[in-house]
Amino acid sequence: MTDLPRVTVWNEYHEERRLPEVARHYPEGIHAVLRAGLLAHGMVQVRTATLEEPGHGLGEAVLEATDVLVWWGHRRHADVDDAVVARVQAAVLSGMGLVVLHSAHMSKIFRALMGTSCTLNWRHDGERERLWVVAPAHPIAAGIDRYFELEQEEMYGEPFGIPTPDEIVFMSWFQGGEVFRSGSTFSRGRGRIFYFQPGHETFPTYHHPLVQLVIANAVRWAAPGDAGRKGWKNAQVPPIEPIS
Ligand code: ZN
Repeated sequence: MTDLPRVTVWNEYHEERRLPEVARHYPEGIHAVLRAGLLAHGMVQVRTATLEEPGHGLGEAVLEATDVLVWWGHRRHADVDDAVVARVQAAVLSGMGLVVLHSAHMSKIFRALMGTSCTLNWRHDGERERLWVVAPAHPIAAGIDRYFELEQEEMYGEPFGIPTPDEIVFMSWFQGGEVFRSGSTFSRGRGRIFYFQPGHETFPTYHHPLVQLVIANAVRWAAPGDAGRKGWKNAQVPPIEPIS
């Protein structure tokens, strides 16, 4: 299972249909480019789901057949149904991996799983970003040298209102001076979560080969292990041995 995770890429798919400056990079949607990147990295089962599909394309059967869910959203976080959020949250707690991208830091699902504000400082001036690898032995950083750069990205700056991550894999510097924990891991229940900051919709970020590599690494890392997925319930249990 860990070699070839079954992936679902979820995208709100809104700005690409509205704004020419987004459509020129993502004519078929951000989800299509993310999917192509994962297929290029050897994954085979990569489906997509979008906001306007019934149940946002994230019905029980889809989630059961998903090892790792990748999430991109920006404008329409509030339109995501709370029942779907609860379903995704339960899936993560039972072991489904979740890769949260860019402005999905304010998605309902990420904030529910973090339990904090998830707010940050931002500036949309298209400045250079340098992503430093701060955990070179981490599998999500495999194949990345000391750092890599994006010519233009949206600045996301600290303080980032997240709980202390299990590991910080990438720390970013922006041309305007800020730093940001741009690649962080978390665990919730049996599920693994990776937040990755690059991906503002007016830039071609998800076409960048190293961004695609990081996301593919993250999907492999977040996939449930051989133990698979298992839900949670309160259970009254007998003692292991007689109590005297
Ligand atoms: Zn953005």
